[in-house]
Amino acid sequence: MFSDRIGKIQKARLYALEPERFTVSGEAVIVRGDHGDYILTRQDGEWVCTCGYYRRHHWCAHTLAYEWYAGLRPGIL
Ligand SMILES: [Zn+2]
Repeated sequence: MFSDRIGKIQKARLYALEPERFTVSGEAVIVRGDHGDYILTRQDGEWVCTCGYYRRHHWCAHTLAYEWYAGLRPGIL
């Protein structure tokens, strides 16, 4: 749903500005979300998240937030 997608992008933008949400652990990144922790891992050059939204849409607020936070994706600042 379109508004759902916009909501995720807005959430990602807020998360990206809060460094305390991200913990790098070896090859993985732990993202502290409002509803729990999610784990990002690298697969075939893409960040993959453990949340349900990612499984359905192949992106999510957590992967987007980390890419912005880590400077891997232009467009936020
Ligand atoms: Zn996620």
